[in-house]
Amino acid sequence: MRPVIRDFFIEFGNMFRKPRTVVYPKEKIIIPDGSRGIPRLKLDLDSLEVLCNGCGDCAKACSARCIKIKRGIDENGREFLEEFNIDLNSCIFCGNCVEVCERKAIEMTYRHQLADQDRNSFKMEKQDLIKQADYSIRDFWTK
Ligand code: SF4
Ligand code: SF4
Repeated sequence: MRPVIRDFFIEFGNMFRKPRTVVYPKEKIIIPDGSRGIPRLKLDLDSLEVLCNGCGDCAKACSARCIKIKRGIDENGREFLEEFNIDLNSCIFCGNCVEVCERKAIEMTYRHQLADQDRNSFKMEKQDLIKQADYSIRDFWTK
């Protein structure tokens, strides 16, 4: 009998408590600090070139093997980052790629709403990863 009475009072008290969940997507929340969404490639703010030099350390550290990098050679014989792809179908948002990058050329954004019927939309190319800059602010979900 006791558990029944206890449960009754718990349920009765819940009627006066604020809900712990939100009505998604009508209600918005501030994304918790440190949350990991889609990775993005950072730009040098002076040259607007990607900071990444294509060293490949992040691809080696990615346990999901979802980073593919290709380096090219320009007319002056210098290497540059030609392609940088992340397949978000496999990404586990661990952040290893960010941690190993000595150039701090990649970071996690707060973009996490990724539902789409087309798996190809999760295959991010270099330009897609640069564009994610819009989502590097924490409270984008409130927009
Ligand atoms: S993001 Fe960093 S670790 Fe990855 S290839 Fe570019 S410079 Fe290297
Ligand atoms: S967050 Fe993790 S799984 Fe995703 S690309 Fe980076 S290292 Fe790979």
